[in-house]
Amino acid sequence: MSLSKPAKSKKMADTPETPLYTRPSWDEYFMEIAHTVSKRATCDRGRSGCVIARDRQILVTGYVGSPKGLPHCDDAGHQMKKVLHEDGHTTMHCVRTVHAEQNAICQAARLGISIEGATLYCRMTPCRVCAMLIINCGIRRVVCEKKYHAGQESEQMFAEAGVEISYFTDEVLKYQNQ
Ligand SMILES: [Zn+2]
Ligand SMILES: [Zn+2]
Repeated sequence: MSLSKPAKSKKMADTPETPLYTRPSWDEYFMEIAHTVSKRATCDRGRSGCVIARDRQILVTGYVGSPKGLPHCDDAGHQMKKVLHEDGHTTMHCVRTVHAEQNAICQAARLGISIEGATLYCRMTPCRVCAMLIINCGIRRVVCEKKYHAGQESEQMFAEAGVEISYFTDEVLKYQNQ
């Protein structure tokens, strides 16, 4: 359940003006790329990006956005739906978009790239639907930057299915009207 350690850095400079260069770990490297990918996202409720990698190589990427040819949240506004839970509390969700994880999986399907045994990098704990897709795609490990406030159900499913999940921080990602 642990993140890969930063690679041992070679001593590049000893002067106080030039701090030692620390080479990013593979997890940090792919997460940083996921950050770059997320800049193309079109829903500002957690603009997220995703990278799926295996054997230290990127297989596919994805970011949150509407299906091809349909209006984007940034242009048309969110499409909010209220979800009523068993205990009576309600939550609001934007349902206009295909999630970053789902779009990365779609890219693999379109390009005919197997993602069996891969690691998925994403911004926060995947939602229930993404978690189910991740499990059935044969992804073995999920690395998230932060926790999703309602991510316990996904964590439970990953545990039951034998998918490892780890976090960069224990911080819970907050966004408006959740
Ligand atoms: Zn939206
Ligand atoms: Zn999702």
